[in-house]
Amino acid sequence: MVVRLADIKTIGQLFQNGVLKAAAKHRYNAKSEFLDRVSLFQGDITVMEVDSIVNAANRSLLGGGGVDGAIHAAAGRKLYEECKTLNGAETGESKITSAYRLPSKHIIHTVGPVYSRSDVENRERQLESCYRTSLNLAVEHNLKHIAFPSVSTGIYGYPIEDATHVALDLVRRFCESDVGSKLDRIIFVVWSNKDKQVYETLIPEYFPSS
Ligand code: ADP
Repeated sequence: MVVRLADIKTIGQLFQNGVLKAAAKHRYNAKSEFLDRVSLFQGDITVMEVDSIVNAANRSLLGGGGVDGAIHAAAGRKLYEECKTLNGAETGESKITSAYRLPSKHIIHTVGPVYSRSDVENRERQLESCYRTSLNLAVEHNLKHIAFPSVSTGIYGYPIEDATHVALDLVRRFCESDVGSKLDRIIFVVWSNKDKQVYETLIPEYFPSS
């Protein structure tokens, strides 16, 4: 099974069909142009036929559990061979490879922070950096779509609400930036129902419809 861009609803469509509802408080002003450029999708990121998918990798970049394991298993041995040439990455850093047997064109491997209760500033800065460096890599490679899993919120233990605020705020600021219009679609991919609910609650605060 492959999921095509046409199968993925924009947040504008999700407001129209009532899945997303106006939030009590808005953190940013409404800007309708962004509603066509951002999506929320529940499902398996490995089957998405888009220009790039992001992998929540570890510093070795050689594969692991969770979404990382699913991506490596589906992409095949050649992905592992290319990853061996990358010499790992630091937390907050992102590196790009081909996607081999996956329907997407590229994989952007980003290393999220392992959640630390004490180090609030660093963990936020590092998680922001994952999203920012991934978006910048997509732009540099002329890719038009990027699909993000919820980085650090699985094995790395970052609470989903906190991580979603960081992700949405960074993506909203990216949309406002000079290069923001270079990407046609930024897709938040959620796996669990709980994570979907968190995104559905918080998206209207960062991307209000009116
Ligand atoms: P991390 O180590 O960064 O926490 P994980 O892979 O453990 O990364 O989890 C990141 C997120 O990816 C979690 O929300 C998890 O539920 C989700 N996830 C796991 N498998 C998939 C998949 N095939 N497609 C999309 N998301 C997935």
